[in-house]
Amino acid sequence: MKEFDCRTAGSPCRAAVTATDDRDLEARISGHLRSVHGIEPNETILTYLVSTAREKGRTDA
Ligand SMILES: [Zn+2]
Repeated sequence: MKEFDCRTAGSPCRAAVTATDDRDLEARISGHLRSVHGIEPNETILTYLVSTAREKGRTDA
């Protein structure tokens, strides 16, 4: 699992977006930005935000 913390984007938003992989995460972040923040994210922003996501649910980190 991957977890993106919306605060990483410099927002006061405390939402966390989780997904199974980068591609899914990118779609979910995009949807979150549109619906919650009213932002239409471009590919550059999405790629950056996905890169800030953390691996979650692993014990061998
Ligand atoms: Zn947010």
